[in-house]
Amino acid sequence: MTKPFYIDEEACIGDGSCADICPCCFSFEPGMDTARVVGFDCEEELVEAAMDNCPTRCIHYEEKGG
Ligand code: SF4
Repeated sequence: MTKPFYIDEEACIGDGSCADICPCCFSFEPGMDTARVVGFDCEEELVEAAMDNCPTRCIHYEEKGG
């Protein structure tokens, strides 16, 4: 399991690269405006690769205690 994270849907441009990199955590289908988080059952490295490759850097870890 990874740390919980979310997509800032205001910033997501729907290019789908997160779902290409980490399909167990992200879903993107043609016609969708934004990707969706579909799970946290994955390796941290893959999620971080998706975060690093996101063109708008709109995938974030949930902040604790905010
Ligand atoms: S990589 Fe980023 S901008 Fe692209 S679909 Fe995923 S969350 Fe949205």
